[in-house]
Amino acid sequence: MQIMRWMISTFGAASVAASLALGQTAPVAAKPSPSSPAATQAVPPTSDPARATPSAAPQTQNTTAPSPAPPPSTSSPDMAPSATPAAATTAPTVPAPVRTGPPPSFDQVIDLVVDRENRFVEQMQKMHPLVETYIQNMKPDPELNSVPESDEYFLGRLDLSDGQTRDISFKTQLSVFHRSLDRLTSIYSMKFLPLGFAQMVILDTNLDRRDYDFKFVRREFLGEVRCLVMDVQPKDKAGSGKFIGRIWVEDLGYNIVRFNGTYSASSRFALYLHFDSWRLNIRPGVWLPTYIYSEESDLKYRFGQKLKFKSQTRLWGYDTSALDSNSEFSEIMVESTDQDVRDKSEVRQDASPTESQREWEHQAERNITERLQKIGLLAPPGEVEKVLLTVVNNLEITNNIDLQPEVSCRLLLTTPLESFTIGHTIVISRGLLDVLPDEASLAMVLSHELSHVVLGHKLDTKMAFNDRLFFPDEKTFQTLEFTRNTDDETAADKKAIELLNNSPYKDKLAVPGLFLRMVQLRAPNLKQLIRSHLGNSLHDNGYRLEAIAQSAPALDFKKLDQIAALPLGGRVKVDAWTNKAALLKSKPVTLVSAAEKMPFEVTPFFPYLTRYTADAPPEKAAAPSPAPGN
Ligand SMILES: [Zn+2]
Repeated sequence: MQIMRWMISTFGAASVAASLALGQTAPVAAKPSPSSPAATQAVPPTSDPARATPSAAPQTQNTTAPSPAPPPSTSSPDMAPSATPAAATTAPTVPAPVRTGPPPSFDQVIDLVVDRENRFVEQMQKMHPLVETYIQNMKPDPELNSVPESDEYFLGRLDLSDGQTRDISFKTQLSVFHRSLDRLTSIYSMKFLPLGFAQMVILDTNLDRRDYDFKFVRREFLGEVRCLVMDVQPKDKAGSGKFIGRIWVEDLGYNIVRFNGTYSASSRFALYLHFDSWRLNIRPGVWLPTYIYSEESDLKYRFGQKLKFKSQTRLWGYDTSALDSNSEFSEIMVESTDQDVRDKSEVRQDASPTESQREWEHQAERNITERLQKIGLLAPPGEVEKVLLTVVNNLEITNNIDLQPEVSCRLLLTTPLESFTIGHTIVISRGLLDVLPDEASLAMVLSHELSHVVLGHKLDTKMAFNDRLFFPDEKTFQTLEFTRNTDDETAADKKAIELLNNSPYKDKLAVPGLFLRMVQLRAPNLKQLIRSHLGNSLHDNGYRLEAIAQSAPALDFKKLDQIAALPLGGRVKVDAWTNKAALLKSKPVTLVSAAEKMPFEVTPFFPYLTRYTADAPPEKAAAPSPAPGN
């Protein structure tokens, strides 16, 4: 690594304005691109039919593990792909419908939509994406309209394969939130994914036009996609649990790309939540559920009690081919032609004891990151990781730090705000990256983690033994943990302040301090968000980097230009098929009131829809509209 002190002068230009954008600070020096320990993203397509197993991970704990996927269907060339995880790697394609003759009548369009939707449901029954739901229960606030009072968090793998999707109501008790669900395999120790939220990926398990009245509303663009907008109402005799609301249908393949409404209730005791459900065109011809927003502001559910909440549900990890161990073989075949295999052979001698110890630690690190990526919790390395690494690099160079192996950064795709290290790999969660108000705040988080590496805080090397990785996915968060003891945390905080004070961020620590103050303010209410699953929370054993918080100005919601923390979802966009992450390049929005600040809060989704093209990766093209305050 080159230490190039003279380049520090370039920071003057970068520090003109406190920017909300990340990656604005000029890199201190060019660093060779890090060799990624988990370069598993390049899986060549294969059509080996023997690979039709949905998950290589044992599902011993679960009585409702996904059944092995049926063989790929070849019944219709027009059909959306038979999405068995194994078949999934063979890039499903649906030929773009070619319209001949006069445009279809509205009546014909309804037939096309119904037909398409029923095929979609079949397809979803073979899909097993990760589903994450984060719920904030709100209470009124005189100044901010409403603020979060408490929160709930669920993460699991969706499994609609048994076809029993009838019992979908949020019945009379709130305890449905905590009812164990048989169709979702839990990854987190916690536990339960509310069936109601998962259900919102499907409009009707068996859409029958005889059950519904369709009314054309207008044509409308959602992003770049021209849609037919229709209101849909169940007929009186259709029974309960039928969708009622509005649908948006793209006008080439007649896929429903958005539906907004609720399910019809059978009685005044049955409750269904309102939702806005979005599907993105992430594979050719295939629109898959990606975002669901739900909110109720005044729902009476029992004895006059009211439910007031808002929630975001995200789905990703549709391409589960990596879970199939046989795909590893083709990766090895590819890697064997790679430079790094030859590089290793050039050593031509046994490692020294020190090198052996480092290699051993690196092996444990690599085993863990590969495993986390495989099950869809870590994004494959990409653009976001490069931005993180630039900031780490700025800290390293200004502090004369030269670590071997070099530090790398990875993105944990979940919402709870956490960061931790796995050996020399710094991991930061998508949720934390979303809410950080500026680059200096990111530097603050990374400086703490970098300090663990610099101080040589060790990774437990038990994971260097491969048998230790044979645990089921849902045990991930019980099996893996990277928490540090109080002494290590205190030492890392002390070192972090030292690193920051030598860095280009030293005069920009007011905003990071405000961020920490906001964490302190909201932590008692947002226990599920401001916690950690794998590492240390931002507020374990007192709050992190207390000194930086102390030196910050007081929080003032009335000051519209004081942004201490952003709402969730404004920074990182994840491709639900490949799990690749990209930074959103949304323009800053001028806030009109304190109520628009919404630190750490969930907001509705408005993705900019595009059609899938091989040239324009959807993670770049389909950026959601900017969240307020971002
Ligand atoms: Zn720590």
